[in-house]
Amino acid sequence: MFSIADNLENVRQSIKKATISAARPLSSVRLLPVTKTRDAETLYDAMSLGLNDFGENYLNEALEKQQALAKLCSAQAFEQLCWHYIGPIQSNKTRLIAENFDWVQSVDRLKLAQRLNEQRPNRRSALNVLIQININAEDTKSGILLRDLDVFAAQVAGLPNLCLRGLMTLPKASLSTTELAHSYQLMAQAFEALKQQYATVDTLSMGMSADLSEAIAGGATMVRIGTALFGERV
Ligand SMILES: *Cc1c(COP(=O)(O)O)cnc(C)c1O
Repeated sequence: MFSIADNLENVRQSIKKATISAARPLSSVRLLPVTKTRDAETLYDAMSLGLNDFGENYLNEALEKQQALAKLCSAQAFEQLCWHYIGPIQSNKTRLIAENFDWVQSVDRLKLAQRLNEQRPNRRSALNVLIQININAEDTKSGILLRDLDVFAAQVAGLPNLCLRGLMTLPKASLSTTELAHSYQLMAQAFEALKQQYATVDTLSMGMSADLSEAIAGGATMVRIGTALFGERV
């Protein structure tokens, strides 16, 4: 039985190793702990280890957890947290997402982007968004195709209450190592091109527990890690 502290140490070591072999600075990769299905106490424990970013997939679950966590920790500690919405977005849920998250990594339709933009509270800074790319063109997966990126990025970048920070992807589960590396390569090229066009773009979110090293080799600047930190989801 490993503790979150042990797991965190292992994940940090893996990130370090991967950045060294990719000849990239350690600071170029941000760790996003993914806390879907974990309870508020687990997030509280993670906070005591210095983790302040949390990625959530299910809105109701996330909102309940935020409320529970706010009761466990000080207002000051809660203020420090940075919440990332990484799941599929239903258009009738955009208001609660715009009000309660700092990042949305799964933006893939103009209608959603427009609603998030309109519904972002004025008192809060612009909502950070990543455009989700369906890199392997899977029928069942969210995200736009790379060929639609230029037009969509221009539309998103034109929305004043959103800040376009980059791209997110979730490659197909069954790819070979070579196919996976190729998918990452396509993402990295698109990301570099986007960075040239928009000064706010700095984030390429790809890589999970099983492919963290490959994703960093492929250019990821943010890895989204659930299982390797918190154990198998039940
Ligand atoms: C669950 C999830 C993760 C984390 O996956 P692990 O394999 O548990 O590390 C990352 N990204 C997204 C979009 C997820 O839904």
